[in-house]
Amino acid sequence: MRALLFQGVEGVADLSASLRISSNDCHPERLRAQQGGVEGPAVAFRNLIPSPYSLVPVAEGDKLHEECGVIAIHGHPDAARQAYLGLYALQHRGQESAGIATADGQHLANIKGMGLVSEIFTDDVLAKLPGEMAIGHTRYSTTGDSALLNAQPIRVDSTKGLIAIAHNGNLVNLGNLRARLERDGAYFQTTSDSEIIVQLIAHSHAGTLVDAIADSLGQIDGAFSIVMMTRDRVFAARDPRGFRPLSMGRIRNSDGPDTIVFASESCAFDLLRAEFERDVLPGELVMVTGDGVTSRQYASGVPQSSCIFEHVYFARPDSRIFGRWVERSRDQMGRQLARESGVPADLIVPVPDSGVTAALGYAEEAEIPFRFGLIRNHYVGRTFIEPEQRVRDFGVRLKLNPVRNLLAGKRVILIDDSIIRGTTCRKIVRMVRGAGAKEVHLRISCPPTISPCFYGVDTPSKRELIAANKSIEEICRFIEADSLAYLSLEGLLQACEGEERTSYCTACYTGNYPTQWVDVNEILPATAGI
Ligand code: SF4
Repeated sequence: MRALLFQGVEGVADLSASLRISSNDCHPERLRAQQGGVEGPAVAFRNLIPSPYSLVPVAEGDKLHEECGVIAIHGHPDAARQAYLGLYALQHRGQESAGIATADGQHLANIKGMGLVSEIFTDDVLAKLPGEMAIGHTRYSTTGDSALLNAQPIRVDSTKGLIAIAHNGNLVNLGNLRARLERDGAYFQTTSDSEIIVQLIAHSHAGTLVDAIADSLGQIDGAFSIVMMTRDRVFAARDPRGFRPLSMGRIRNSDGPDTIVFASESCAFDLLRAEFERDVLPGELVMVTGDGVTSRQYASGVPQSSCIFEHVYFARPDSRIFGRWVERSRDQMGRQLARESGVPADLIVPVPDSGVTAALGYAEEAEIPFRFGLIRNHYVGRTFIEPEQRVRDFGVRLKLNPVRNLLAGKRVILIDDSIIRGTTCRKIVRMVRGAGAKEVHLRISCPPTISPCFYGVDTPSKRELIAANKSIEEICRFIEADSLAYLSLEGLLQACEGEERTSYCTACYTGNYPTQWVDVNEILPATAGI
């Protein structure tokens, strides 16, 4: 069941003396009632499923999940639609909820809901979002979250005025900050990191909003790429280590000031016909007003640790992040993998879609034909409607199907970008062998994933990560491949090296975390097998 949450439009007169998240937006009881279907003026439901049917999660495979994508628009007559298009291009970064907030100089409106961007933001819904400024968010929610409660943007009344905020990433010093803010009288209504940030802004003693934002960002630790909006300004910021990407673009307007755009990935600019201008720098806070763009470095001297897994898997190959095209990095990963662990074979077959670019690089380097030996069903969503009486484990067969005439009698090298639990990999290897392949070799375009991520990627605990618990030989036996090899860490770093010398976080491959604040219980050696 999908729920749409229409948040009221509020004006200047609604400013209160203390921070208050709109009760329409986030009050847990109200949201529970809304999710249970109690009728209210702020709620609509979409995609009701007939009762004999249930939504069955489609095997997501051994894939990790990004948690968010963000977009911000300043200076466009139809900012909501621009944000919608941007979020559409960022849909791969989160498919469970999405939201857009807009401002017209006087009012700040906010609508968010469960589902895909295109399901939530119909023409009628976009018409309720007037203004020349917008921020937007698309989210993958983690298990146990109250998804709608934590959907973004969050709109807040604070001592500093109305603020809408959306962010990508995870804070790692939440406990300390939350405890301190609660001692200072803060009342939290969500479990979202974003609320910590706005509470810090509200409690800051700085005289201006921009100083309060800089002051607050300086107190938080972890991964965050943030977009924020007041009634007349847009802000964008990245954490000092630059974990998550955030780019700035520009739409040139012949008859007025340019439209300024921020997006998690530059692929969003193409749909908006915006030019990529630059990355927001680690530790930078950018402000856009009617007078133009200003910037300040709110933190400096912290070593950069951008997430290398964005290059391996998350970001789209048509995006430029951390100063480098993702397509280029993946191609190099494949080439390096071929140099490091080549094996005689007849075909290179990618595990679609994320293994495709690395497989092309591998095939060219190894001079072995590249073929789409596995076909992905693109029309299977995150859930699958199945009559309850006949629920069966379709597993990976629902998503992938082998091309038997290509695979029969061949020595096949499968290229994928990660093995998390190993169970889906084993199904794929069995599927290829079942289609008649003589040999099945698996090559992975990154090192073994041995540690969980604390910076905005939903990773299973260490005891569920197969590479944290088994040797490569044991994993190879588990997945029933003829051989298995991973890209070396040195090879991965080399593949992602651009003109701008980026230094990367590689903690999920090394266990060396760039921040102090991690939950040590999560990274203790595993006590149980898979
Ligand atoms: S731990 Fe891995 S997934 Fe998380 S930020 Fe670091 S490189 Fe990225």
